[in-house]
Amino acid sequence: MPNGMTRRLFFQHSFLAGAGALLWQRLNPFHDLGGGPRAPGLSRSAGIPMIITSKSNETGQRAMEVAWEMLAGGGSALDAVEKATNIIEEDPEDSSVGYGGLPNERGVVQLDASIMDGKTFSAGSVASLENIKYPSSVARLVMERTDHVMLVGPGALEFAKSWGFQEENLLTEAAREEWLLWRESHSDEDDWGAPDHLKGREQGAQQNEEPAETHGTVNVLAVDANGDIAGITSTSGLSYKIPGRVGDSPIIGAGLYLDNDVGAAGATGRGEDVIKSCATYYIVMRMKEGRSPQQACEDALQMIAQRYRAVGLDFLPGETFRAINKDGQYGCAKTKGTDLPQMTVAGESGVSVCEGTIAFPDDEEPQAQDPDSSRR
Ligand code: ASP
Repeated sequence: MPNGMTRRLFFQHSFLAGAGALLWQRLNPFHDLGGGPRAPGLSRSAGIPMIITSKSNETGQRAMEVAWEMLAGGGSALDAVEKATNIIEEDPEDSSVGYGGLPNERGVVQLDASIMDGKTFSAGSVASLENIKYPSSVARLVMERTDHVMLVGPGALEFAKSWGFQEENLLTEAAREEWLLWRESHSDEDDWGAPDHLKGREQGAQQNEEPAETHGTVNVLAVDANGDIAGITSTSGLSYKIPGRVGDSPIIGAGLYLDNDVGAAGATGRGEDVIKSCATYYIVMRMKEGRSPQQACEDALQMIAQRYRAVGLDFLPGETFRAINKDGQYGCAKTKGTDLPQMTVAGESGVSVCEGTIAFPDDEEPQAQDPDSSRR
């Protein structure tokens, strides 16, 4: 960025640099809009079979170890992605997926999930599902035991119960406390929280705390030894969402897409924009045209940025894409921020946490670009 120019001005400058530039942009829809990967956009490969998840914490790594054992023993990609996702869905510490997920604005946990099986070109999904810990497994039953793709709300719950899923309270104490804090702090013009004359006397640390930033989702994508591809996206969605809000995660082509001849892609982040841009479908189509998973994820971010050129890149939503291809290559990229996006990859050489790229990094320097840290 030129000295003395704000990021906003720089983007405007990039966008409005004259008719010639605009024509060039139209002819070259994937040109770099002024941002650029801050980490090398390498094509990395784990070979096949392989499996990845968007989660890089201990639970995500354990899920990859378990799923890898299944794949190494000749198991299907479909079974491996379901098993790995279930491990993440039942983790009470994960406030963005399954049990322990943050609730909607009324304090109710509503889950979204989708699954695709490349071998049979099948898909299933559930949205706004309450009280069931494993929405991805319900989505799999929608895929395998109905002629529909998507069930929502009470219908999805009734369907899950008919298959023996037990209803349980998914709102953990920690998530309930976060929600109460959000309710008391998100506006100073409502009646939640202590009355003004008691505020200074309230005990505890809550008084000055802001709720933590709270969103996230899990993508799990795999290729098995037969070369078949499967994927799942599962989430409790945006925290404190309007009841009934459905994000991108259960929408085929938005939160998840795959093609058995090409590869798979999953999305996390602001779902509304992933839906509008059909982002994972786009990524898979880019891979079909020969782009690597890393390049295809970066292409999708540029594509979305193009859509935002009229209003400015300050409004670009926070989104992260992860993709694999049929050969076991993988990649990941996100729109903006400072911390590089991560994914956990399991393959013949072990389980590794890998970093991807940022298309439009914030002004500060990002964390040091560590190469993959690996462990077996
Ligand atoms: N994509 C999810 C949704 O919009 C949320 C997230 O990944 O942060 O529901």
